[in-house]
Amino acid sequence: MDRLTTYRRKRDFTRTPEPSGTPETPDTNGERRFVVQRHRARRLHYDFRLEVDGVLVSWAVPKGPTLDPNVRRAAFHVEDHPLEYFDFEGVIPAGQYGGGDVIVWDMGTWAPPPDKKGPAADPAKAIAAGELHLDMLGEKLRGRFVLVRTRSGPSGKDDWLLLHKHDEFAVDGWDAEDHPRSVLSGRTNDEVKADPDREWHSDKPLATANVALKASAQELAALDDMRKDGTWHVFGRDLRVTNLDKVLFPAAPGGKPVTKRDFVRYAAQIAPVSLPYLRNRALNLHRFPNGAQTKGFWHKQLPDHAPDWLTRWENPEADKGETTTYLVVEEPAALVWVANFGALEWHPWTSMIDAPHEPTYALIDLDPGESTDWQDLLLLARLHRDALAHLRLTAGIKVTGRRGIQIWVPVEKGLRFEQTRGWVEQLSRTVGAVVPDLVSWKWQKSDRRGLARLDYTQNAINKTLVAPYSTRPGPGAPVSAPIGWDELDDPDLTPDRFTINDMPGRLADKGDLFQPVLRQNQKLPPLR
Ligand code: MN
Repeated sequence: MDRLTTYRRKRDFTRTPEPSGTPETPDTNGERRFVVQRHRARRLHYDFRLEVDGVLVSWAVPKGPTLDPNVRRAAFHVEDHPLEYFDFEGVIPAGQYGGGDVIVWDMGTWAPPPDKKGPAADPAKAIAAGELHLDMLGEKLRGRFVLVRTRSGPSGKDDWLLLHKHDEFAVDGWDAEDHPRSVLSGRTNDEVKADPDREWHSDKPLATANVALKASAQELAALDDMRKDGTWHVFGRDLRVTNLDKVLFPAAPGGKPVTKRDFVRYAAQIAPVSLPYLRNRALNLHRFPNGAQTKGFWHKQLPDHAPDWLTRWENPEADKGETTTYLVVEEPAALVWVANFGALEWHPWTSMIDAPHEPTYALIDLDPGESTDWQDLLLLARLHRDALAHLRLTAGIKVTGRRGIQIWVPVEKGLRFEQTRGWVEQLSRTVGAVVPDLVSWKWQKSDRRGLARLDYTQNAINKTLVAPYSTRPGPGAPVSAPIGWDELDDPDLTPDRFTINDMPGRLADKGDLFQPVLRQNQKLPPLR
């Protein structure tokens, strides 16, 4: 009997033919492992998982286990999980089964109590009979627990109760939510969500389901030790990297020039955070293979020599002479490839490849003119901030790394570009009317008298704005950096303030400030 049938049935393994989830030989003599994962999916719950006969027998406990012997927690028996999932901590991409964030809330060992004999001492039999007693030895959970089935549901989805016995480990009033940190990393769900180390892809075979999002210290050191060309093993891929000592960005005043090695390293460091904004989207590359001081060019067609493992999207609507094959960055190594290809700017489409005519964001582009000073632009940004707050809309804001500011408003699925474009135009005209001497609505730049433009026209298919965390071709490798809305009032903010040197520390400090744009359920309210 294959115990992982249900796990597999819920996931789509049709993409790859490899077998998945072969149970290991059970070790029935020694202690067994347990893990409790705090999982924020559609609803917060704790996944209580016991190693039994080579799988993780699992219950979802909405309020979490407790040491309080006076409290019984509802527990829902869910499908067995593979042992590969045992110490998973990270994020499950939105839209996949269990999408959300996961921490290893507790782990340790357990055993049937020594006083239990016969079937009660055999976990599989005890679970089948609907009553399991277990002595737990974790960091948080200790002592004697009991799981009791209260109601059988269809296909094993039974209602159970989880309770703690009155013993020396019992603590009155003990609540799991008062102990929110991971026993693996010391981090909370929020902290892991903001800066995940791993992703779980439940739609992939088990061997590739657990994806490392971060280049290891050894991998980064290997890049530093490499000669000017070589093969870099990173994120599980072998990547050809070239001309590593070439200067790609001239020095900023008081700084050092930025080499291709620095840039490729940054791409590897930033890839995990950038990925949610690139995945499922065609990527237009703005290439400067000879450096930021030269003229760049757009490169959209993925070349034939690109590695096979890169994800491609064939645009079904490409006319003759138009780009047919686009790169889709689906894994961190792909962004490293992009960097080595000399693409200093990453421009993902505003729509996803499965619905290219449906934007997922409405884009507000505050584009300064020659006579717009930074204070003027900040004023325009604050007016938009106030308008969005008034409309109770969530949005992300970022500096462009050059002179501008952009605001991305996530929208519900199913809108067309005409709708987001019309909505942004109306919003920006309303805001612009407050400060008519700062803004021009003239199409031609030469007619704008140096005034700022509130550019709604980028809300169109295959028109793009630079991705969050992308570099810009300027001195010191400036980055289009997400900011907090309160940073608009920070006197030290400038549009090109953040560089590839600052971003790792800034992320560790502030997390990914752009995450609010990833929700896809926000209705744009009518503006009149
Ligand atoms: Mn779960």
